[in-house]
Amino acid sequence: MKEQWREFISAMIDSGFDAKLQRASAELDYPASFHVADQCGLFLARVNGEKRLIAVAQAESKLFNEIQAQETCMVDGKAVKIAELSAQNAEVMRKFFPFMNPVAFGRNSFSLGLGDRLGLASPGHLRCLAGSGIRPVLAQQSIRELTLTERTYNNVLDAASWAVLQEGFHDGFGADGDHLKRPEDIKIALDLGYSMITLDCSEKIDGSIAAMNATDRTAKYQSLPVDFRTKMEHFYLDKTFPVGTLSVHFDRDSLQEILLTYGETLAFIQQIDAQFIKPHHQPIDFELSIDETATPTTPAAHYFMASEMEKAGIVLCSLAPRFIGEFQKAIDYIGDLAVFEADFAVHAAIADHFGYRLSIHSGSDKFSVFPIIGQYTKGRVHVKTAGTNWLEALRVVCRQEPQFFRELCLFARSRFADATKFYHVTTDLAKIPAAQDLPDNELERMLNEPDARQLLHITYGYILADKN
Ligand code: ZN
Repeated sequence: MKEQWREFISAMIDSGFDAKLQRASAELDYPASFHVADQCGLFLARVNGEKRLIAVAQAESKLFNEIQAQETCMVDGKAVKIAELSAQNAEVMRKFFPFMNPVAFGRNSFSLGLGDRLGLASPGHLRCLAGSGIRPVLAQQSIRELTLTERTYNNVLDAASWAVLQEGFHDGFGADGDHLKRPEDIKIALDLGYSMITLDCSEKIDGSIAAMNATDRTAKYQSLPVDFRTKMEHFYLDKTFPVGTLSVHFDRDSLQEILLTYGETLAFIQQIDAQFIKPHHQPIDFELSIDETATPTTPAAHYFMASEMEKAGIVLCSLAPRFIGEFQKAIDYIGDLAVFEADFAVHAAIADHFGYRLSIHSGSDKFSVFPIIGQYTKGRVHVKTAGTNWLEALRVVCRQEPQFFRELCLFARSRFADATKFYHVTTDLAKIPAAQDLPDNELERMLNEPDARQLLHITYGYILADKN
């Protein structure tokens, strides 16, 4: 049987490689993937069940020459390459099609971190966001996620590049080196062209201070360098700083706690900014994450970090505090909504005051707080949501392959204890139904009930890494 894409190539040759042929490309597996550059027409198609890049040149073409293909065929006297979506080919394509490279979004957009863990779901994410004005950070992986899923920053970026080609999405996508702690990882992400760096300061944050009694804390405070203390006290002590219609106050207790807790992060952030962010040849969305801590970030601590960044000339694109209440993976917010709102209003005002955006981590499924987040940020915000996307991908498996889904659930249970080393959850395994006993029409309970959702969320790495 003659594949439809061969007929399309005939039409392309007949039209003299007219890029507007797009309208006539509806017969293709991925109609929006048809693009023309450097005398070369190309598009994605399914060949024997695999996604392939099909390329044909009108005349001598560097792009065509650089695409590596194991397989070729002839259509109407022209050589056609049937190429794998390899790393090498992705690199070639990014050179000729700038929209396949990630871009920074800056301080004023509304963006969603989608974090396609499968490397398959980004085309769907792009369709979901179409027309919403929300900008997609398609690639969003932490080192922890890469390790758990046995992927690399290269192939995460490649999957995003191929997705925008497939969907013909030219409006710009982001790629986030999420929760990076080490300079060498930041370098890898930036060298590959990642457009966003989320710097995780948790290893420089002293989480023990909050629980310390006043006497011990004051004693420890005395051990800080005296000129550091004097400088900070002069600037903050007993001062009130307006932020919008609200204000933030520093008394002796809160200032001591903040300096002891966050003091060490300052030099670290400055070093990363000076070494990587400032000298980088293209704009970077630089995010500061102080959310992986034992206690919520107080408004004063948030203000302190923002103000110190400003003093040091560091331009943050966004900052992720740890908000009050619980932001556990894959389930809705746990806590008092009125308390959250009052706290969030101050954090949003601080971000506004300094000009960056708030970033909401573990944003997956926090449906009850989304309206509050929207209201106070007026849509100038970044929300990271990889967990929801992963679970919705599992819903597809559940509906299409119920027996396989039951196996996944059983496997997830066997790895739950291991996964809790990486994620803080309050999952009660006793509340989770035994998937193997559920009939097909009840199987989605596994994706609708909180405990089961958490089980399937935090074990994603084991599920994806087990190739059997
Ligand atoms: Zn985080």
